[in-house]
Amino acid sequence: MRARAAAVILLGLSLMSCQAPLRHHPREDVAALRYNLTYVREPEHAVDVEVVLVRGTPREFLFSQPGAVTTVSAHREDGGVQTLPVQEGRVVLPRGTRFLRYRYALDASIRERGPDFFQGSGDGDARHVAGRAYLIRPRVVKPGLRVELSLVGTDALLPWQPGENGVYRLRGEDLVDSGFHGFGGRRCQVRLPDAVLDVAILGHFTHLSDAAVCTWLGKAAEEVRTVRRAFPHPRITVRVIPAPGHHGPSVFGMVRWSSPPSISISVGQEARPEDFARDWVAVHEMLHLTHPVFVPRVPWLSEGLATYYTEVARARSGRQDSRRAWEELLGGFARGLEGNDTRTMQEAVSQDSFSLAVYWTGALFALHLDVELRRITGNMRGLDDVLELLAARGSSSTFGAFGAAVDAVAGQPLFNALLERHLPRPAFAEQAGLLEALGVQEGPNGVSLVPARDSLLRDSVVGRRSHGETP
Ligand SMILES: [Zn+2]
Repeated sequence: MRARAAAVILLGLSLMSCQAPLRHHPREDVAALRYNLTYVREPEHAVDVEVVLVRGTPREFLFSQPGAVTTVSAHREDGGVQTLPVQEGRVVLPRGTRFLRYRYALDASIRERGPDFFQGSGDGDARHVAGRAYLIRPRVVKPGLRVELSLVGTDALLPWQPGENGVYRLRGEDLVDSGFHGFGGRRCQVRLPDAVLDVAILGHFTHLSDAAVCTWLGKAAEEVRTVRRAFPHPRITVRVIPAPGHHGPSVFGMVRWSSPPSISISVGQEARPEDFARDWVAVHEMLHLTHPVFVPRVPWLSEGLATYYTEVARARSGRQDSRRAWEELLGGFARGLEGNDTRTMQEAVSQDSFSLAVYWTGALFALHLDVELRRITGNMRGLDDVLELLAARGSSSTFGAFGAAVDAVAGQPLFNALLERHLPRPAFAEQAGLLEALGVQEGPNGVSLVPARDSLLRDSVVGRRSHGETP
C-alpha cells in the first residue's frame, strides 16, 4: 500500500514539474528503459541486472527498498565504465551513460539478514524476492514511460504476463509497485470461472504435493467469490515458500499492490494437506483484493475488512459453521482487547499499524457497519455492496470516498455517525450492545446463537452461499 501511495505521489510531482510545452512526438518524448535480468547460480544465487537507457535518460535512479546493493557500474557511450556508490538507495548517473549494471546477491542477503520476504528467501534452487528490493527504478517515473523487461537463466513468476519472446512490456508505474517475484521452483494453476491463479511453489514440502497446494489456494479463492460477485482480478500470481521446521499450514502471508496484485505465503515445510482445513492466511490475503487500496493508508480499515471477512467467508463457504465463525470473531475481539486498558479505538489504532488491536477493532467496526447497512436497507444491502460499488470506481480509494460509498449504499448518512461511536470511545465499547442485538451470547460452554432483535441479520451475514448469490 505504501508503494502504491508513492507511485501516486511521484506521478503527481512529475505532472506538476512538467513545464516544457508539449511536443507532438510521443515516441520521442518518453524514454524507454530495457531491463535485462540474468538469474545466476554460480558461485551462488544472484540476479544480474542491466538497465539500458535510451538517449541517456533518466539519470536519477533509486531502490525503493535500499540496502542490499552498494554499488552500480555506469557504462558510457564511449566505452568508459564508472563504479558509483548507492547512497541512501540513490544513484545519479553521469551524462552519456548508456547502461547501468549491478548484481543483486540473493544468497549473500539471505546469509546476512536471514530469510526475508522482501530481500530474499528460498529453498533448493528456487528464490523469492520483492521487486522493490532488487530492481532499481527511475526516481521520478514519468507518465507514459515504457519499460521492457526480460529474464534468462530460470523460469520466473513475476506479477505480470510476458508477451512474445518472453518479454514483459511494462509501464513505468510497474517498476514502482513491482510486487513479489519468484525464480525457479515449480508451477500449478488454479482456474476459477472468472479468474486464473498462477502459482509458483518455491521449494520442497515433506508431505504436500503441488496439487494439494493448488487445491488449497483454489478453495480460498472460491471463498473470496462469496464476498464479491466475481473474483477481483482476472489473473493474480501466488508464490508459496516453505518454512523449514514448521508443521502448521500458513506461517505468514502478504499481498503487494503490483498491477495485478501479487501474493506470497510462507507454508510450513512439514504441513500436511489436512492442515489447510483450518488455514485462514490464504483467504485473508486474497480478501485484501476485495477492497480498494486506501490512499493514504488506513491499516485499521483494510485489516479490519479482511479480518472480518476471513471469518464470514469461511462460514459462507461452509468451511466453518456459523457458530464457529462467531466464536472466531469473539475470540479475536478478546485478543484485541487484551492489554488495551481504557485506550480509545483512535489511540489503539494509531500506536502500531499491525497490532491485534488494529485488526480486531477494525473487524468489529466492519461487522457493525455490515449490520447497520442491513438494518437500514431491510437486509437488502450490506458491506458486500459497498465493496462492489468501490470496485466499479477504481482500484484505490480515499477514506472519505469509502465513507461516501457506505452512505450511498445505505441511502442515508451512516458512516461518520458510526465512526463517532467507535473511534473516540474506549476500544470495543460497542461490542456488548452489538452482540446482544445480534443474539450472540458467550457462556461457559462457548458461544450460543439465540433469537434477538437482529438475529435474522446475523444469520444472513454468515449464511451459506455460493458465488454471486445474494443472501
Ligand atoms: Zn491483512
